[in-house]
Amino acid sequence: MNHDIFIKKVRLNCFRESKVPGEFLLQMRCPGGMVDADMLDIVKHISKTWGDGNFHFGTRQTFDICRIKYEDIPAVNKYLKQYIEEVEIEECGVNMASIAGEPAEWDPESGYPTIGARNISACIGDYHCVCADVNTFELARKIEPLIFPSHYHIKINISGCPNDCNKAHFCDFGIIGCAKMEYHPERCIGCGLCAKICKSHATRVLQLNEATGKIEKDPCCCVGCGECTRHCPTSAWTRKSTKFYKVIIGGRTGRQTPRAGKMFLNWATEETIIAVLSNWQKFSAWVMDYKPEYLHGGHLIDRAGYKKFKELMLDGVTLNPECLVAEDVYWHETEYRSNYNVKELSTHHHAGPTEEKK
Ligand code: SF4
Ligand code: SF4
Ligand code: SF4
Repeated sequence: MNHDIFIKKVRLNCFRESKVPGEFLLQMRCPGGMVDADMLDIVKHISKTWGDGNFHFGTRQTFDICRIKYEDIPAVNKYLKQYIEEVEIEECGVNMASIAGEPAEWDPESGYPTIGARNISACIGDYHCVCADVNTFELARKIEPLIFPSHYHIKINISGCPNDCNKAHFCDFGIIGCAKMEYHPERCIGCGLCAKICKSHATRVLQLNEATGKIEKDPCCCVGCGECTRHCPTSAWTRKSTKFYKVIIGGRTGRQTPRAGKMFLNWATEETIIAVLSNWQKFSAWVMDYKPEYLHGGHLIDRAGYKKFKELMLDGVTLNPECLVAEDVYWHETEYRSNYNVKELSTHHHAGPTEEKK
């Protein structure tokens, strides 16, 4: 069957073209990578009715259903209504009748309206993981209405602790849970285990004072991972109740200039994170001159420059008193395009003295 397909429009609807003309992959959002298991019935029905019976876990924790025929997309969208209502509207409080925070018409049987804001991915966090400092998917659900629906592109990864299993360092806006620790010397038996663990698993900021039998801490470099609390046999280390986060910006993979992100905020509370991300649409619109195109958040930060990014993202935000903000950011990128590091020195332009000057 011949098709005359406007691919861009189909992509905006969260259907991605495949190598087979006329066949598409549907990406179902799953903010924070957690949904009620009942939602799998919907995934199964779509896959068995219109797909090839399988689904793939997308790299951003979407349910991806392959081999959907172009002519079946309207029927799939109609059926998707209950999934979108349950996951986006009820769980996350998303206003589907909006785009980038502005009112926009949305037919509930027309599927997803935009693909710009990618699914927010998260590790399982303190819902299960013994290392976790925070609840990751609850935060994802609070952030979802701030970034979706929107044509501005952003990838947000959330990790529940500084182990960063979910690669917050390699996305546009990475969020990493952390905690402040409290020492209870009266409970400490001087076994030294916390110092040993911090040395081998974290940042070497604890030391056992042999004379006093108590622990001394250099607080400057503690990353708030909580390994000391996890291993202390007497609960002499506990986490303080306030949840904190680090924000890592501008990381990415990709063909041209992959790079690890850099820290923008440290010890930010959830309220601060929400307030900062509330400025994301405004920042993106400013950088793109109000004309969204396919350019990810990290590139927008590059275009604006860190100082402008900081100014717009912190506009009107009251930071919690513990929050630290990067004065400046110095990027380091892998130079795939220039091959600068893998070329022989003699082939570099302007590298080293010229023959005449030797
Ligand atoms: S990042 Fe931390 S909380 Fe999340 S899975 Fe890894 S160890 Fe657990
Ligand atoms: S692990 Fe606990 S008991 Fe042992 S030295 Fe550290 S704080 Fe004290
Ligand atoms: S929270 Fe982590 S880095 Fe800080 S003292 Fe404990 S083990 Fe070390």
